[in-house]
Amino acid sequence: MGGDNPRINNRMEVIQMVAKINKDECVACGACVDVCPEDAITCDDVAVVDEAKCLDCGACVDECPNNAITME
Ligand code: SF4
Ligand code: SF4
Repeated sequence: MGGDNPRINNRMEVIQMVAKINKDECVACGACVDVCPEDAITCDDVAVVDEAKCLDCGACVDECPNNAITME
């Protein structure tokens, strides 16, 4: 039944997540910038994620020494 497809698509949109930086916790060490396979993170005074590039791999979350990154 074709009616199943919209339900699957809706679910995929809901579970799509991106990395979020907690600016109060970020110490601008640059570790997440180096580990990101998509070059989705830049860091001057604080890390910033380009949400259009982030593929939800979670590598930056594991790398951050200050637990400043979460997937939301
Ligand atoms: S979750 Fe992966 S792709 Fe997204 S910003 Fe972190 S390292 Fe980069
Ligand atoms: S690894 Fe964590 S503390 Fe370091 S720049 Fe990235 S978000 Fe900030």
